[in-house]
Amino acid sequence: MTKDPVCGMNVDENNAQYQTQYGGKKYSFCSQDCKTKFEKQPEQYARSAA
Ligand SMILES: [Zn+2]
Repeated sequence: MTKDPVCGMNVDENNAQYQTQYGGKKYSFCSQDCKTKFEKQPEQYARSAA
């Protein structure tokens, strides 16, 4: 399990439908909405997840 960096929900990265790469790391999201938010401000969310 990993964490959706946008909303903080637990996400199974092996089954996540919504994923993106940023800074060499893979991020998984619970929804398209969270993925879109991350891609708009990846620096903000990537920092809080680390
Ligand atoms: Zn989410």
